[in-house]
Amino acid sequence: SAADPAAGAAVKAADRAHVFHSWSAQGLIDPLPIAGAEGSYFWDYDGNRYLDFSSQLVNTNIGHQHPKVVAAIQEQAAKLCTLAPGFAVDVRSEAARLIAERTPGDLDKIFFTNGGAEAVENAVRMARLHTGRSKVLSTYRSYHGATAAAINLTGDPRRWPSDTASAGVVHFWGPFLYRSPFHAENEAQECERALAHLEQTIAFEGPQSIAAIILETVPGTAGIMVPPPGYLAGVREICDRHGIVFILDEVMAGFGRTGQWFAADHFGVTPDLLTFAKGVNSGYVPLGGVAISAEIAATFDQRPYPGGLTYSGHPLACASAVATINAMAEERIVENAAEIGEKVIGPALREIAERHPSVGEVRGLGVFWALDLVKNKETREPLVPYNASGAANAPMGAFAAACKRGGLWPFVNMNRTHVVPACTITEAEAKEGLAALDEALTAADAHTDA
Ligand code: PLP
Repeated sequence: SAADPAAGAAVKAADRAHVFHSWSAQGLIDPLPIAGAEGSYFWDYDGNRYLDFSSQLVNTNIGHQHPKVVAAIQEQAAKLCTLAPGFAVDVRSEAARLIAERTPGDLDKIFFTNGGAEAVENAVRMARLHTGRSKVLSTYRSYHGATAAAINLTGDPRRWPSDTASAGVVHFWGPFLYRSPFHAENEAQECERALAHLEQTIAFEGPQSIAAIILETVPGTAGIMVPPPGYLAGVREICDRHGIVFILDEVMAGFGRTGQWFAADHFGVTPDLLTFAKGVNSGYVPLGGVAISAEIAATFDQRPYPGGLTYSGHPLACASAVATINAMAEERIVENAAEIGEKVIGPALREIAERHPSVGEVRGLGVFWALDLVKNKETREPLVPYNASGAANAPMGAFAAACKRGGLWPFVNMNRTHVVPACTITEAEAKEGLAALDEALTAADAHTDA
């Protein structure tokens, strides 16, 4: 579509007049006005088109404006826009069936929410009521959402301003060999020591006081750290031994991102509760939820579940989930994510890492990859310090700006860039984005010791 800078300026002025943005100093932000989006791309009003290697906030797994999902929302809107959660609704039941069929093991009941944080809140509530215990364990280097319990469970600096209300949350270290908290030298050691550390944390907190352990199956925002073989099975065994509910947060990793419907499928592990959002309908309409095991669901057979939301199982959201899941199955979108990751993205990133002094490690699977950027490959010193802002963060700012100049919209968090395109991305699009990334990394290289 033709450039229209005046329209873009008007959209931005209207935003600045009344929109209060997430996570931001309102006087310091400069939101880019967006004119449209399709598939793997979106574009602004100045004639710039961006290949979206961020999938917005890692949610547009099916790409932008998938015609089948758009049509399903339009059809549902014409038929019935809203109904209270207490009624039986065809699209809600169908969405629940399609999700339950894909979640691992006996996670066959679905509680719908409006997004990921509310899913985490409700999973934690279910675990506490089911066990009669209060503490919940989560890892450093995690993100679980920005509501009350979810932000306290989060293991990144966004938790700090809300820490005063963190009753019952205890953090521990998960496995991450490249920056091992356990001084491990290989994956087997990292796994063994991470599990021993968790055991010890539980012993010192008191197993009888712990309701749940919540983990991202593959931690996302914190760095896409694929757990070593045996770790998740080990946590499952520890939970079983102590009567602790095991919650896997698949808000980011679920629905195709890792090249499987759920990341847990890679590890053969079934949690007691699984949270989802984002990819369930690519965020076309807000939707999240909790998949619940038979045992925990049974806790609330005769006893009311004390939680609910006006829009739980909203018909527009559920219709978009039904269309998304069906399209993903019909078009082999999960398989595409696995193949592109294995054949195109993974090999290209490893090759890029060899040529760029700023790339310390490449890790990931499916369309879920991280580049850990460093000042020095030997010392692994991060390119910018943990939680850097302002001038200290300039190297990452320069890298992101270089990506955008090259027509690539990057995901950037601390010293990392994540390659998290739509699961629908084609080989040609992936190669276009990887070439732009390769070039932009020169801007990061300039800030290394090399
Ligand atoms: N859990 C994980 C693993 C996430 O990545 C996110 C969001 O990025 C959330 C929970 C919170 O989801 P929402 O922003 O939809 O509340």
